[in-house]
Amino acid sequence: VPTARIDKLLSSMGYGSRKDIARIARAGGITLGATVLVDVTKRIPIMPDLPHRMTICGEALDPLAPMVILLNKPVGMTCSHNDDGALVYDLLPNRWRLREPRLSTVGRLDKQTSGLLLLTDDGDLLHHATSPKRRVKKTYRVKLARPLKGIEGDLFASGRMMLENEDKPLAPAELEVVSTTEALLSIAEGRYHQVRRMFAATGNHVLELHRGSLGGLKLPDGLASGEWRLLSEEEVSSIF
Ligand code: URA
Repeated sequence: VPTARIDKLLSSMGYGSRKDIARIARAGGITLGATVLVDVTKRIPIMPDLPHRMTICGEALDPLAPMVILLNKPVGMTCSHNDDGALVYDLLPNRWRLREPRLSTVGRLDKQTSGLLLLTDDGDLLHHATSPKRRVKKTYRVKLARPLKGIEGDLFASGRMMLENEDKPLAPAELEVVSTTEALLSIAEGRYHQVRRMFAATGNHVLELHRGSLGGLKLPDGLASGEWRLLSEEEVSSIF
């Protein structure tokens, strides 16, 4: 079992500088089981159940890396670490900005797109979920400015559709019509503004875009816009 110095571990999780951690410990604010940890230069074993046994300032320790967060992204927030406006990271505990390794979004949703967004500090997962080779299926609910023409389903499924300024045709995508101005679209790629550009190429305009699923993972009904929760290992493996 790997070990870590208490002050170094907690500092890397965003709880403060090593000095801050030492101060909290001296005040009795760090416990492990029934023990109050006073000397934060000591090493402790990094057991997976540590978050269940350790408290800091009276609260359970945050999850250890790797962690995967499922967020219901609201419209108007950016999937970026440094943008002037509101960021999806603003919805998470503030100290997580300082966590190492750093949390990133798994792919991106446009500022004006809502729905299922994953965030993780797991480099392998980031790589796998966004790799074009893996072709993870994403399903979007689309509201359109104009009625569907009826040609869209065949065009999107053809595997021959070209977007402007690109030299590779889009992989086949699946359209399910919900009403004259509403549809579900499943794509296996993640090109820049892909869904908006697909409908623009048919002379239409996307008014609202919402991602409902990623691979085998669905956005749960109970997770309101702006809310997030941690995914279990089982849920993570259901993505691929
Ligand atoms: N396609 C888009 O156009 N925007 C998104 O955010 C996701 C897919």
